[in-house]
Amino acid sequence: PGPQLPHDPTKKTLVVLGSGWGATSFLKKLDTTDYNVVVISPHNYFLFTPLLPSVSTGTLSPKSIISSTRYITRHKAREVAVIEADAKSIDSVKKTVTFSDSSDIKGAVSTTTIPYDYLIYAVGAETQTFGIPGVKEHSCFMKELHDAEKMQDRFLDCVESAGFPGQSPEEIDRLLHMVVVGGGPTGIELSGEIHDFLEEDLKSWYPELASRMKITLVEALPSVLPTFSKALIEYTVSTFNEAKIDILTKTMVKEVKEKSVILQMPDKSIKEVPCGMVVWAAGNTLRNLTKDLMAQFPSVQTNRRGLTVDGHLRVSGADGIFALGDCTATSYAPTAQVASQQGAYLAKFFNKLAKKDNLLVEKQLLETKEVPENQKEGAKDKLTTIEKHLQKLENPRPFNYSHQGSLAYIGSEKAIADLPFMNGTFATGGLTTYYFWRSAYLSNLFSVRNRTLVATDWIKVKLFGRDVSRD
Ligand code: FAD
Ligand code: NAD
Repeated sequence: PGPQLPHDPTKKTLVVLGSGWGATSFLKKLDTTDYNVVVISPHNYFLFTPLLPSVSTGTLSPKSIISSTRYITRHKAREVAVIEADAKSIDSVKKTVTFSDSSDIKGAVSTTTIPYDYLIYAVGAETQTFGIPGVKEHSCFMKELHDAEKMQDRFLDCVESAGFPGQSPEEIDRLLHMVVVGGGPTGIELSGEIHDFLEEDLKSWYPELASRMKITLVEALPSVLPTFSKALIEYTVSTFNEAKIDILTKTMVKEVKEKSVILQMPDKSIKEVPCGMVVWAAGNTLRNLTKDLMAQFPSVQTNRRGLTVDGHLRVSGADGIFALGDCTATSYAPTAQVASQQGAYLAKFFNKLAKKDNLLVEKQLLETKEVPENQKEGAKDKLTTIEKHLQKLENPRPFNYSHQGSLAYIGSEKAIADLPFMNGTFATGGLTTYYFWRSAYLSNLFSVRNRTLVATDWIKVKLFGRDVSRD
């Protein structure tokens, strides 16, 4: 009774965990003809994370940067089941996944277990808090769509509260102080977006308050954007200086309170800084599900950064589990670029595997079937062809990452790019790079629908500014 999962007993069951960069790229390229495919993810959509900071200031609307997973799977050769649920546990011996409906509304059945032949593990990572007190309670994150929506709401709440009659100057300054923690690309892009909102819109809507707004970026390391080239780091710092965004390097957030952050300054002194909003963009950590999976293979899964996989993305120690993206520990940075290339690689791997399995069945049939004398020659030729094909499918090549460059928006209509050139990199920044950034992201969006929505949002903001109304 009830909706059934695709189940053809002659085909292998492929369970995909996640609907992010890795899983979506995998699903797009997978030929589902030869598999029963089930996708499990707490979000029934793909989120284009590079444009998430733009949602937090209302430059883009939330729906413009997401794509329903069903939209991606509906044209597949065989039906793909998409289930909105959290994978709760994996039994790598029985080869099963248990998952639950974690949304507000649940039916009579909200937890179940299904078997897999192959598990595509692409659950990403979560925001790292280092167990620092108050981070979870008092800051906004920048990882999921609802994080950006929450930040937008909180930001405007601070501005409106600052405009409440009778507010003291100190309280206005506190409410209008926005602290971004983490000088990686997320923190930088977010600071740039907040600055744009301030310059392009808040100055007209809240003229008496806008001049008092302050943005501070806090970074524990000696420099922001450590993975970008030196020239681009300097360019970003000087752009932020002009934009009056304070960068505090060698400064570590030790605690987040309701109305302030506690900073450890470069000289190790402790300072309490009042603020209205803290956005926490201090990097990634593993999900508990990943830690639990690793714990099932204690002798081989010892890397604290994530799952150890081989060249074909097979999880070391496990049978039939493949992992990709931010949940793995590889020599690559945890980026969308890597996850999507891994997804495409794995889809090709599985397409070939299905071909190989089909050829093996065909070969076995030919070898065991009684063939009339006059057809023996033909059967022999066919067998030789199959064997040739099989040989080609032996030893699939391992995953090889091809870096297309790093791009980041830094606000004030400026972007930075480290692009591979000859055997080195070509570093560029400024207005032209900003247009390059926009066109690159526009063309990378997965659907014409998303491209249209994002382009329309950009035009709307140019014509009418960002919306400052709150729900
Ligand atoms: P994700 O894309 O995070 O997908 C994980 C999926 O797993 C999600 O669908 C999630 O809902 C699902 N999931 C979570 N828990 C479970 C569970 N228990 N069971 C089943 N499913 C689960 N990288 C770049 O290369 N360029 C950029 O410009 C860029 N910009 C970024 C901007 C921001 C704000 C952020 C946060 C990241 C950015 N990144 C960028 C990094 C990039 O987003 C990640 O590296 C990428 O998302 C990793 O892909 P993934 O598939 O491993 O994980
Ligand atoms: P990140 O790990 O790159 O940066 C986090 C920063 O926070 C680090 O520099 C760290 O030193 C700092 N930090 C940690 N704890 C701190 C504390 N208590 N006080 C002060 N600073 C602290 O994280 P990210 O920026 O979210 O990026 C995550 C991944 O996503 C990276 O691989 C990145 O390349 C990728 N990404 C890429 C882009 C892009 O290419 N445009 C954009 C966003 C993210």
